[in-house]
Amino acid sequence: MSETIQAPRIAMLGGTFDPVHLGHLRSAVELHEALGLDRVHMIPAAQPPLRGAPQISPQERLALLRLGIGDTPGLVADPRELERQGPSYSADTLAELRQAYGPQARLVMALGHDAFLRLADWHAPERLFALAHLVVVDRPDHEDALPAALAELVDGREVDDVATLMAAPSGRLLRLRLPSRMAISATEVRRRLAEGRSVHYLLPEAVEARILERGLYRRTR
Ligand code: ATP
Repeated sequence: MSETIQAPRIAMLGGTFDPVHLGHLRSAVELHEALGLDRVHMIPAAQPPLRGAPQISPQERLALLRLGIGDTPGLVADPRELERQGPSYSADTLAELRQAYGPQARLVMALGHDAFLRLADWHAPERLFALAHLVVVDRPDHEDALPAALAELVDGREVDDVATLMAAPSGRLLRLRLPSRMAISATEVRRRLAEGRSVHYLLPEAVEARILERGLYRRTR
């Protein structure tokens, strides 16, 4: 009797999550569905290498992420980058996931188009493709063309469909337009909170409630 056991399909969605919002969570759910994933690791960065310090502590960002995910099937809040010293390099995180899930696992690093546009500036960008596939999610208001260094980095890697992506453990690029594209950003959420304006329906209710209870992101004077 021949039995084919499908290799695990795992994605990492890293970010600052300052704070997590419905754009992140809905993208994670739709990625899970579109790619037939077993698990999406949502991984807050301790010290994002390419941006300023987040406004709240890493532990608070993680607590909000956990609340936002709740018991959503297939999504996990993964604290591994907060437990490491130094800057949060995605290549190191992918190496840990590769180690955990094995060489046959289909490992995906998912990111929005805005983050993808800066990929050539990341630490060891070629190493990312040795470890994982890249799946780039369309994001409203972020539609710029690729810079030359990035076009060179991804040259020859792009595939058109999920089946071709999942035929190999790593090294390919897929651009996806998910059904519910949401023009929500953490920057806008923080701005609204600082101005005392409503963030209702931009965040899960439990996340909104904790932020308001604790007065997070309020302008201090
Ligand atoms: P900020 O406004 O502070 O830069 P952000 O809303 O872009 O934050 P991040 O935590 O930086 O959120 O994003 C983590 C990942 O999620 C990135 O790959 C980003 O492109 C993606 N992302 C964020 N918001 C959305 C959205 N509305 N739709 C799709 N992807 C998103």
